[in-house]
Amino acid sequence: MRFRYPLSILLLVSLFLWIISPWSSNAFVPRNNHPVPSYIINPYRYICWASTLRLRANLHTHTMASDGREHADEKLRLYAEAGFDVVAITDHDTFAGTQSTGLRIIDGREMLVIQGVEVSRRHHFVSLFTDTAQFSARNSLELLQANYDQSDAIMFLAHPSRYNYSVNWYMDVFSRFSSDRLVGMEVINQGMRYNEGCILLWDELLTEKAPERAIWGISTDDAHRREHIGLSYMIFLVSANNQDAIIVALQSGHSFLTNRVVQGQLLPQVNYINVCNKALTIQIDAEYSNQIQWISRGDVVATGSQISVTELDLRAYVRFVITNSAGQIFSQPFLLS
Ligand SMILES: [Zn+2]
Repeated sequence: MRFRYPLSILLLVSLFLWIISPWSSNAFVPRNNHPVPSYIINPYRYICWASTLRLRANLHTHTMASDGREHADEKLRLYAEAGFDVVAITDHDTFAGTQSTGLRIIDGREMLVIQGVEVSRRHHFVSLFTDTAQFSARNSLELLQANYDQSDAIMFLAHPSRYNYSVNWYMDVFSRFSSDRLVGMEVINQGMRYNEGCILLWDELLTEKAPERAIWGISTDDAHRREHIGLSYMIFLVSANNQDAIIVALQSGHSFLTNRVVQGQLLPQVNYINVCNKALTIQIDAEYSNQIQWISRGDVVATGSQISVTELDLRAYVRFVITNSAGQIFSQPFLLS
């Protein structure tokens, strides 16, 4: 009987150690402990829906200056024919495909041609509005740093799921560079080429970085051949087609992404978005829509044209995807602060 007291102490200490150990509850502890949101940061809040232009843009294009099949002039003519308003020529590690950034009339269509480059050592990234770039360094981070330091380019990461970099590596990258220079990452490349992995990574990064950091999604056709043109592209919501307007739209998320576009059919169109910060609701009005899905922290959390952030108990961010038989429109993330 004289052992009973020390035995009780031992049991109590064991119980205490078990309670504070990581095995006592769910093993997954989110790195970002999201507070209950009280404000929706709406990337579309400055859009004047009645008058906005909706520019069709491809920000990642190859020509014969690297591994594209067509000469730059022919490529631009094909984009004009396909109804594009903005095209960035981004050959691998060379500026030989474009002469400069500016408005040109191509086949009777006014088009903003952007001089850019796809820096293609280790992790590729696209650098726009620049004619200088670093193409060699010991690793991708050094490469990004060198380009960040040496130009005023607007950059985004190209097809991230093609590589084996960890989520932590991407989190570190987005922490090191300002959001007005490294604006986001390619989520959709050439229709469905790398989609699932890139979309998963986008949601994972947004879950960790939102609402502190917006990571805007980019959709491109990464056209190497004429057959790739228009498979996926950006729609910019701007008041004019010029360099300044496109830079603001890239930095502020004034855009939609398109995915799996079927040529010659009508994609869903967003007529307007209403965000009410009193009720914490988001409502969209869309045409030609078969389905509207809302996604937060990687899961589909609702369907339909209106959601309540409070009722759904959402954290970090929410974004929507509208689908019809012609393809999909992705919104940029609404950050929940
Ligand atoms: Zn490319």
